[in-house]
Amino acid sequence: MPTHYIQANTNGRLHPATEPSIPPLNRGFLYGDAIYEVWRTYGGVIFAWDEHWARMRNSARALHMKLEFTPEGILNEIRRTVAAYRSEVPGAGELYIRFQVTRGAGAIGLDIALADACDYVLMVQPCPLLTPAVQQSGLSLSVVRELRRNPAQSLDPSWKTGNYLNNLLCLREVRARGADDGIILNLAGEVTEASVSNIAFVRGRKIVTPPLSAGILEGITRSLVIRGVADSAGLEVSEETIRPSDFPAMQECFLLSTTKDIVPVGKVDEISYKVGPGTVASRLKASFASFAALYSKSHPELSI
Ligand code: PMP
Repeated sequence: MPTHYIQANTNGRLHPATEPSIPPLNRGFLYGDAIYEVWRTYGGVIFAWDEHWARMRNSARALHMKLEFTPEGILNEIRRTVAAYRSEVPGAGELYIRFQVTRGAGAIGLDIALADACDYVLMVQPCPLLTPAVQQSGLSLSVVRELRRNPAQSLDPSWKTGNYLNNLLCLREVRARGADDGIILNLAGEVTEASVSNIAFVRGRKIVTPPLSAGILEGITRSLVIRGVADSAGLEVSEETIRPSDFPAMQECFLLSTTKDIVPVGKVDEISYKVGPGTVASRLKASFASFAALYSKSHPELSI
């Protein structure tokens, strides 16, 4: 049970997220037959609205799932869900908005023809903040040893589906030896990403990050950094194949994700990386914050 209040909205019905919602025959529950997106707010404005919708449409297309709603309709439902959340938790700061879509329910069986219509569940809670310890020392990562990232030829990691078993089991392994998160390799032994974040390193003054062809989710944060945020910080990004044998030649490491934007990594197994003031990651994080502030200012229609 969550220890803090999470507001849910199932197909337009508002309820606490601890209460029952979708039926047992729901295909998201039975087979992971689902897709999702997570937005966060900066200054009370939903960030990167269109980018997340574009990725959701790609995921839906890949799964042959017909989306039955519009961004305008869902924005309206997000507003209702956020209003309900705020009436339960007054004074909440930046928000996390999860939009989980399933193929619906039907008789038991894998055939997608058995599904009725798409279901959605929205969930709103506070956006998790970086703890002072992580800001100061960075995360501790460990390379996953027992499992590899599922290859694009089977379940493509670029689809943001409701099936996170690969990621979840990778995280379990590294948590068991005390790490915060894992670096997952592909079948060729190349770095892909962490359990719910993209990864980048700093070599010299350059940011290096695995290419999409390594088999990763095309993170919105990663894309924004590559398409402009790095440039505004005077930094260069290169998409390169990275192997664990390259780690000693790197000076910094960081993770990228919607909820946490740029998070410093202080340690990967026995290797330590620079964290804190004066690092490339801190410069990039500041540049990302300026970009997000500008986005919020220029999108008053996404204020919630
Ligand atoms: N990789 C994986 C596997 C993820 O789950 C996520 C977060 N959903 C990311 C990367 C980061 O993506 P984004 O920047 O769009 O949050």
